[in-house]
Amino acid sequence: KKDKAPELSKKEQKRARRMFPQPLVSFKELRTRYKISSRLASNVAEQGFTMPTEVQLSSLPLLLGGSAKNISEPDLLVVAPTGSGKTLSFLIPVINKIVRHHHSGADEHGILSVVVVPTKELASQIVNEGRKLVAGTGVKITLMKKGMRVVESEGATANEESDASGSEDEEEEEEGSKAKSQNNSPVTKSDILVTTPLQLVNSLSANQTKPVASMPLVRSLVFDEADVLLDPLFREQTLDIWRSCVHPDLRVSLWSATMGSNIEELTRSTIKERLENIGQTSST
Ligand code: ADP
Ligand code: MG
Repeated sequence: KKDKAPELSKKEQKRARRMFPQPLVSFKELRTRYKISSRLASNVAEQGFTMPTEVQLSSLPLLLGGSAKNISEPDLLVVAPTGSGKTLSFLIPVINKIVRHHHSGADEHGILSVVVVPTKELASQIVNEGRKLVAGTGVKITLMKKGMRVVESEGATANEESDASGSEDEEEEEEGSKAKSQNNSPVTKSDILVTTPLQLVNSLSANQTKPVASMPLVRSLVFDEADVLLDPLFREQTLDIWRSCVHPDLRVSLWSATMGSNIEELTRSTIKERLENIGQTSST
């Protein structure tokens, strides 16, 4: 409408709008413009925030753009200060995507989204915030606990059979019985799993499997405090989790308060590694 960028063709303008959507101006727009679930929208409203924070108004349109036809959701690296409201920025799109998935009638049951954070305290804070947002939407959010099983163990067709195969681990009695009890516990029924890297990797490699078991349904993978997760202390586990998410429509977002040592470079190299990985797995 304004006398701006007249040299762009209509097609180019459309493309630019997709890549750089208008920032959100109010939480009401989540409903009016981005058509998020009405229940989710009212849960957001109930938080009583008057204005979206800067990171929310810029990242939500990018992540929710995927709700509109022909606009695909990007992978995203977001850097914004501590206390700027990053949690809501990733939880709203993740929850909305799952509500839509449920409504699409897809007959898939299992973890659709994983949020990885460096500490258990942070994980539990995110679950608390998430519970307020999922109320009444039918979406289930779970805090990862020790001994929880998140995927069916490969090759185990029935509970009885996986019982019988437990015997080969007996040289390490304690480890063996731990693995056994893990095999017996039911697979966690949840849509969103919030976890530390170690807890999830332990569950995915319960029988010392290498590579770790994959989580075939995960469409959204969130790394919160990504600078810490890509630090040498967590890096291998973080990459193991990334590799275990094999769905072709997977979207990854990384959230951080600082650019850290070289988070951008790390992000690029992991994305490259992942692309190579996809190349390998899709040919099998
Ligand atoms: P970050 O992860 O970026 O450090 P948080 O997501 O933990 O920040 O949010 C920090 C605090 O700000 C939380 O108490 C949260 O409830 C609050 N908050 C989130 N969004 C808004 C908003 N739009 N307006 C006011 N407060 C907000
Ligand atoms: Mg945070």
